[in-house]
Amino acid sequence: MRIATFSIGSERRVGIVDLENGLVVPFDLTSAEAREGILAIIERPTLPATLAPIALDQVTLEAPIPRPRRNIFCVGKNYRDHAREFSRSGFDPGAVDIPVDPIIFSKVPDAVIATGAPVVIDPHVSTAIDYEAELAVIIGRAGRGITATDALDHVWGYTIINDVTARDLQQRHGQWLIGKSQDSFCPMGPWAVTRDEIDVADTAIRCFVNDELRQSANTSALIFDIPTLIATLSAGLTLTAGDIIATGTPAGVGIGFNPPRYLRGGDVVRIEIDGIGTLENRCAEATR
Ligand code: MG
Repeated sequence: MRIATFSIGSERRVGIVDLENGLVVPFDLTSAEAREGILAIIERPTLPATLAPIALDQVTLEAPIPRPRRNIFCVGKNYRDHAREFSRSGFDPGAVDIPVDPIIFSKVPDAVIATGAPVVIDPHVSTAIDYEAELAVIIGRAGRGITATDALDHVWGYTIINDVTARDLQQRHGQWLIGKSQDSFCPMGPWAVTRDEIDVADTAIRCFVNDELRQSANTSALIFDIPTLIATLSAGLTLTAGDIIATGTPAGVGIGFNPPRYLRGGDVVRIEIDGIGTLENRCAEATR
């Protein structure tokens, strides 16, 4: 099942996407519930009743979780080829190519934007803004000390995240938080799918910049798979329903090229993950 958060007029709604018929079937939620996006569905034992379908082209998609309740967990260097391109770039001299344990950082919730919304490029703040196509896990059931064997039982579903990164800020400030959390640096969507929709051990992921294929990989190449990531994070840190884990990006990011190919105003980044859909955002230069 694909579940979208969307707006029609000034109202936010949540509904089941019926791609075949180009429809979205809204759930009967109060506006306070719908304001939370798919969190309103994740936390219920059963799905709410539905209302009359609406044509998909009549609605504006929003991020499935428009404002996560806390930071988005992210994983660094989780595909071998990307870890190697990162080392080759000279970003992190002396660091090991392939991590022995998962590298975990986070992005602030306010960075989240929908498919179709602009990624803001502010040349006064950064001149090295990069894209990172990633499969993101949405936790459905809280837990602490979750074992890898039980991990997928705690997953509600999946979405796509573009872990947009200001490489210069990421490098300058040691901690990656600022470089990863600039306004609009977390495109998410176009919707979320329930966990039965994809085999996360074998899912293709692609990223295009202006229709040029830059990243193409399969989640089978993850260094630390999703059960391992959930076990790692939840060891001593309680994961809660609605938590999001961006699982890392494959090779082909801008910093991996020589010279690097960073994003500019007008560039369009399109990420496709089989079984989920397409997340597309145009970059817009900040006006000031
Ligand atoms: Mg990333």
